[in-house]
Amino acid sequence: MAETFTITDLKLRLQERQHKMTPQRQTVLQIFLDHPGEHLSAEDVHGLLRDKRSEIGLATVYRSLELLSELGILQKIEFGDGCSRYEVNTLDPTQHHHHHLICTKCGKVIEFEEDLLDDLERDIKTKTGFSVQDHQVKFFGLCKECQAAGEN
Ligand SMILES: [Zn+2]
Ligand SMILES: [Zn+2]
Ligand SMILES: [Zn+2]
Repeated sequence: MAETFTITDLKLRLQERQHKMTPQRQTVLQIFLDHPGEHLSAEDVHGLLRDKRSEIGLATVYRSLELLSELGILQKIEFGDGCSRYEVNTLDPTQHHHHHLICTKCGKVIEFEEDLLDDLERDIKTKTGFSVQDHQVKFFGLCKECQAAGEN
């Protein structure tokens, strides 16, 4: 797995933008660091915080998620169910985003790490002059388990 942002990176980014490191912001990011590879909504984060007996309210969670996305630490993703989810960005800005495989039956999101779009990106550059910096690719379908369940 690619290296992701840490609490120290968060401190630096906040300082650069003249924002303060608050315990709430740190706690929200820590939730993501504790759940690598997961795509969490504001409600998910709020639920996990409650499990840890944290007093942080949902509105603060929303604000922290927005700020962390603006700072480029979190990536906001829409999976088509009307609910924004977030994941921690990789540290390397030249590294393109992994792809998401979304099961339309159970809602599971699987990460596909390989880019495999180099040919397409080169093609786009040749034909349009457009230089692809990143992408968010989503594949919709059925996961292994849901396919097996459908056969019964
Ligand atoms: Zn790419
Ligand atoms: Zn499924
Ligand atoms: Zn992901």
